[in-house]
Amino acid sequence: MKVNADIQNVEKVCKKCGTPLTSKSKYKYCDNCRRERAKARKEIAGTVSALCIAALTIVPGVKHFVNKK
Ligand SMILES: [Zn+2]
Repeated sequence: MKVNADIQNVEKVCKKCGTPLTSKSKYKYCDNCRRERAKARKEIAGTVSALCIAALTIVPGVKHFVNKK
């Protein structure tokens, strides 16, 4: 039983930094890396939505300019 537990501990490590994870953890990353990834994803989402808003703001202006021509 102890050997099995040790094998599980060896198999379950954070994919990013290699920190051993608890065998209960369903995640491939440790808490720290998951927090960083969530933060990065949030920043990417913010950047994407900002670009979308910028595109939506610019496109009507470009269309207006093209139609006028
Ligand atoms: Zn990690």
